[in-house]
Formats: sequence, structure tokens, C-alpha cells
Amino acid sequence: MSSLTEEILNFIHRTGRSPNRKLGQNFLIDANIPPKISDVANLSSSDIILEIGPGLGFLTQELLGKAKQVIGIEIDSHLCSELERRFSTVQNLTLIHGDALKLDLHGLIQSCGINKVVANLPYNISGPILWRLLGYSPLQSLVLMVQEEVAARLSASPRSKAYGSLTVWSGLHTECQIELTLKPQQFFPAPKVNSSLVSLRTRSEMQPQFCVSDISLFRKVVKGCFHTRRKMLRNSVKASNVQIDMEILDLALKEVSIDSNRRGETLSISEFVALTNAIHQQLYAT
Ligand code: SAM
Repeated sequence: MSSLTEEILNFIHRTGRSPNRKLGQNFLIDANIPPKISDVANLSSSDIILEIGPGLGFLTQELLGKAKQVIGIEIDSHLCSELERRFSTVQNLTLIHGDALKLDLHGLIQSCGINKVVANLPYNISGPILWRLLGYSPLQSLVLMVQEEVAARLSASPRSKAYGSLTVWSGLHTECQIELTLKPQQFFPAPKVNSSLVSLRTRSEMQPQFCVSDISLFRKVVKGCFHTRRKMLRNSVKASNVQIDMEILDLALKEVSIDSNRRGETLSISEFVALTNAIHQQLYAT
């Protein structure tokens, strides 16, 4: 039994609280992993880290030793009390008891000067968290433990089954690398699926093929195309929340030389960008 498993069992014994499956409480028990995560995040003493779901603090401990400041958001009040107890003498941890899906993350990132996110995310909210965090420019990188299936979506290529709106949204802002794959036994309790550590590094300079003139239009076009992924592009954009006449859409498609009979799932990220910019221009020009 690892020392981390012992700590969890101790906590359960002392408090009578078992890990809450609904909150995605699968704690890391392989002690080799937190140092690997901090290596991948390339931490330095000037980094200000946001950790979502510090849990019992196994990863937090590692981050605190490397970074200037760690800001942890934990939804479970019992775990918050445990973290306060464990890190009572530590100066560089700010603990927020709250729901990462409801807090103003952008405001927090801005006001605290957070430049990196490092977390073993609760599986059930990894998608919505990624939608909220990606594209927020002050972040240099996000190093995240997610389900293997989510990692596959983040790094998927057009025409593959895993390619979807999350792939396009994350690929617009960051470059994804799958760093490690972990077995269920490296967590307690063991989840049903493998997990992967991914690094998402914000593009250092804005390449023209990723410059979107209207980000909310981009989201609507992309979401619309994958909502009806078997439909042809022309029909999926029309069926989306984008208010556009067919003639205008056809003009936009023609302008960027994209065949309207293609399906959205075949478009590369730069094609989605070009199409959105052309639609924006047509809408603006009329
Ligand atoms: N970081 C710890 C580790 O690696 O062992 C725990 C990771 S565990 C996979 C996910 C953690 O996120 C749990 O502590 C859980 O209580 C917390 N959590 C779940 N939903 C949350 C939410 N909406 N906001 C903040 N924390 C949440």
C-alpha cells in the first residue's frame, strides 16, 4: 500500500467520510506522479498556479514547493478543512471553498496574476472547465489530468470520431500534447477508465490562421457544425444559432473555397477560422 493510500484511509477512518463519486474524487495514489506533473508544468518560483480540486493536497504539496503561489478551488467543505489543517503553516496557499464552474475564473486569474493551471480534474466537469478556461490569454499553459477519452478529443484530427467542438476550441488557442497515460490503479478509488496527463500550451504568437474576428460567432459556427455532424456544412451552419441567409452563407463558403457539401467534421481549425471570418465579413458588409 502506498503512503498516499494510507493517508486517504486515515482520513476516511478519522472523519468517517468516503470519497464522493459524484464529485469525481479519485485521488492520486502513485507518489511518482505529482513530481512528474510539476516537471511537465515546468514550474518556477515566479509562477502563480490555479489548482482546481486540490482534494487531500497530494499534488498541491508538490506545487507549493515549486511555485510562488497556489490558488486552490475545492468544492468539498470537508476536504477544505483537511487542507487547512494540513497546510496551516504554509504561506503560499490560498484556498477558495467554491464551485469552479460557478466562480468568476477569469476575474480570479486576472486579480491574482495566475499564469498556469495545474490540476487533476474531476472527470465529470473536465469539458465545461476546459471551455471556460481555454482562450484566456494571460494563461501560459494548462497541465491537466483528464480521462483518456477527453485527451483523445483534445488531440484529435479532422474526420476522426474524437474530433469535435472541444478539439477545435482548444486547438484555436493552444497546442496539445499527451504527456502520460495512467492506469485506474494509480488512483483511489480506481476510476473505470485510464487517465491522461495533457499539456495545453498557449500559442506564443498569434498566427494569422488562428485570428478570429468574432469569437462568439466562431463558437456558434463550430458548435452548430458538430451538433449536426452528419449534415452537410451548409445545412449545419443554417441550423445553428448563426442568423444568416443561405445566399450570404454560400458567398462566404465560396470566398474561402470550402465546398458546401462537406461535413463540418472534415474542416481543419484554420478552415473554421477562415469560414467564420468570411461569414462575419458578409454579415457586416450587408
Ligand atoms: N488533486 C487531488 C488529487 O490529485 O489527488 C484530487 C483530484 S480529484 C480527481 C478532483 C477534486 O475536485 C476533488 O477533490 C473534488 O472534490 C474536487 N471538485 C469536484 N468538483 C469540483 C468543482 N465543481 N469545483 C471545485 N472542485 C471540485
